[in-house]
Amino acid sequence: MNSQERIRRIAETKNEIIADINHTVWEYAESGYHEFKSAAKLKEVLRSEGFEIEDRAAGIETAFVASYGSGGPVIGILAEYDSLPGLSQKAGEAVHCPIEGQDYGHGCGHSALGAGAVGAALMVKEYLKEQGLSGTVKLFGCPAEETGFGKAFMAKGHCFDGLDLCFSWHPQDANTNFPRAIANYAVRFDFKGRSSHASSAPEQGRSALDACELMNVGVNYLREHVPTSTRLHYAYLDCGGEAPNVVQDHASLLYYVRGPRLSQCGEVLERVKKIAQGAALMTETEVNIRVLGGLNDYIPNPTASKLLADAFEALGGPEFGEEEYAIARKFLEAMPEEDRRKAIAAGAKINGISEEEFAMRPLNTAIEPYSDQVRQIVMPGSTDVGDVSHIAPTGQYMVAGICQGTGDHTWQFTAQIGTSIGDKSAQATARAIALACARAYEEPSLAEQAKKELLEETGGVYICPIPDGLKPGEGV
Ligand SMILES: [Zn+2]
Repeated sequence: MNSQERIRRIAETKNEIIADINHTVWEYAESGYHEFKSAAKLKEVLRSEGFEIEDRAAGIETAFVASYGSGGPVIGILAEYDSLPGLSQKAGEAVHCPIEGQDYGHGCGHSALGAGAVGAALMVKEYLKEQGLSGTVKLFGCPAEETGFGKAFMAKGHCFDGLDLCFSWHPQDANTNFPRAIANYAVRFDFKGRSSHASSAPEQGRSALDACELMNVGVNYLREHVPTSTRLHYAYLDCGGEAPNVVQDHASLLYYVRGPRLSQCGEVLERVKKIAQGAALMTETEVNIRVLGGLNDYIPNPTASKLLADAFEALGGPEFGEEEYAIARKFLEAMPEEDRRKAIAAGAKINGISEEEFAMRPLNTAIEPYSDQVRQIVMPGSTDVGDVSHIAPTGQYMVAGICQGTGDHTWQFTAQIGTSIGDKSAQATARAIALACARAYEEPSLAEQAKKELLEETGGVYICPIPDGLKPGEGV
């Protein structure tokens, strides 16, 4: 029996646990850094399967590290379990009906993400035990991926040091390689002015709101003179109040400064800070600038990414049946005409079947093989897996867990990932990650090769974007 057959056999025994985690965490739908019940569920399963748990990793309440085995290679698997506000939705329902009394929902599928990651760790444990191999598997319970930079805080706490390889995944609408993602700094600008009656004593007022507006105008001019790959976005955290006849003496902005590398974001950020100071000077207000967090770009490690994609090719993707296709069809049919047409055309092309066939079974099963292209393609979004990928060679894969054409961060995503579509996605991923790990334990030179590639890419330097003294979740 080869490693592929062994993993397939072990996988059969863990499928129920994976589905149970997905459904339980989906129902909890907790916010970043408050995933107490979700983390407890994952830890309970891992503990009962013989994993040693390091609680409150990096001093974060809902972070943990679960380990099994001894010696090297040391392989990490990343689990997430936070959800998103405003995306509560009943499972399987293709018309908008939020769950009563619940605001949060798993519109990014992290319930399945965590379930698949834990499932993989359990399978790896069985494999190491059966084969009597040297090696350690570490399951990282990572909170607050969405807005809290959880893994960057864990990286600052040295959680990922000493890993030889690391794997993760993300539910999506297709089975594809995970390309590069961009770096990001999140920065808060608090302006302080002087209040006065806006009409009877305007000369006494110094408007913090004016300062924010001038800063935004300045940054919008700056856009023309930064590298084209830079992304600058802002939101008002505080607009100074609701009364037009009171000069606003306080107002705050949150900025995201994104780019292909953290160093580039840092350079642009210095210029954004100058504009903030300029706006303060113009309005005779004061500005307090605080970096609230950040992320490094995601580097897909060639060896790790190939190991994972090869494992999916060997074992196949999610094994959807008529039950899953029937659910997916409801969501396809509920799409606006134009979106539905595009989804069917794309799905038929991806799977090499007719549009009629795909419209009946609108879930992707085709597996995209590994291609070095992943190192060139840049996804214009960010993930805190980026920080892990600068410390350990990391491979990720996207796996179908929603109907083709379903958007990220939508209630439609929440609704589908909470059904057996999400379970099948997590189950297929768990066994593929487990097979990638099994192959790496059997051939330790793979990890050495991966580490060499990482060293070539980063020069062994990791710059953590989290400033000293900042607490997780502070100021956001
Ligand atoms: Zn996500």
